[in-house]
Amino acid sequence: MTENIGFVGLGIMGQGMAHNLLKAGFPLTVWNRTAGKMEPLLAAGAKAGRDPADVAAQSDMVLVCVSDTPDVEAVILGQEQGIIQGAKAGSLVIDCSTISPLATRKLATALAEKGVAMLDAPVSGGSEGAAKGTLSIMVGGEAADFERAQPVFQAIGKKITHVGPIGAGQTVKLVNQILVVGNCLAMCEALLFAQAGGVDLTKTLEAVSAGAAGSWMLSNRGPQILQRDWRPGFTIDLQQKDIRLVLDAADALGVPLPGTALIFQLYRTLQAQGLGSEGNHALVKALEHLAGFEIEAAGE
Ligand code: NAP
Repeated sequence: MTENIGFVGLGIMGQGMAHNLLKAGFPLTVWNRTAGKMEPLLAAGAKAGRDPADVAAQSDMVLVCVSDTPDVEAVILGQEQGIIQGAKAGSLVIDCSTISPLATRKLATALAEKGVAMLDAPVSGGSEGAAKGTLSIMVGGEAADFERAQPVFQAIGKKITHVGPIGAGQTVKLVNQILVVGNCLAMCEALLFAQAGGVDLTKTLEAVSAGAAGSWMLSNRGPQILQRDWRPGFTIDLQQKDIRLVLDAADALGVPLPGTALIFQLYRTLQAQGLGSEGNHALVKALEHLAGFEIEAAGE
């Protein structure tokens, strides 16, 4: 039996994921705080919910993809309009946002008191992965709930891994983010070095992307840096939020992460300059400032 799906949060990621659920044939009810972002989904066949509670009342499974921990808490636990107010016993909430593992466990406990199950299912793969349905999804929760959600995960993702109990998905996502920002810093330093060395940057990217130095970051965001195209697949503000989650968790665990802490501070300099809505690859601007020169735009 096809389950009715709800989707709350139609930002850069949610848009693509919700479209892919429609394409896969799921009956879909959506809600977004800024109502205009629902229009492309409604035009493609989704129904509009009045608020998260209404979406939950019309759905067997509700996916959430909003910004930060307090935002997920608001849409799930909100006193009047939260998912918990409308969700039926036996339904399943799947949180695809990147938030605190500890807060995730508390949300799951609150939902369980109403007979509602929860999976944490943060994603990786950027706006491109969301649009193409090729996300990596790291899932925490009960095995039976993971199995139940498989058809939904298959519609939005490619690599789907059940990594452990509730909250484990968020912990693995933070592992992912340590790797992402480390890759990003390495890419930015490498391109500045190449610029100073006088080599052709497009050819340099082509040469190194195929070898041991290749990465998603280099292939997808390297060309954007060369064009000085700062449009976000993932904003600096949200990237900074993820590093804060990493550093908070690392502090609680007593694990030193000196490299990640440095990148947190570099992103902070960009936020201080009002660049928080640019893409995370604009990290190169912080290094350009230190170096005293810039990457020259390709084709100029
Ligand atoms: P985004 O484009 O900024 O969208 C954020 C969404 O959250 C919007 O729909 C926004 O509504 C909604 N929202 C924020 N606060 C809210 C609140 N208090 N109540 C209700 N709705 C609220 O961000 P995104 O890039 O799609 O990211 C969404 C989540 O996915 C984040 O946790 C992010 O870390 C994670 N993620 C992003 C990427 C990426 O590459 N972009 C990759 C993996 C994971 P409005 O439209 O009204 O502002």
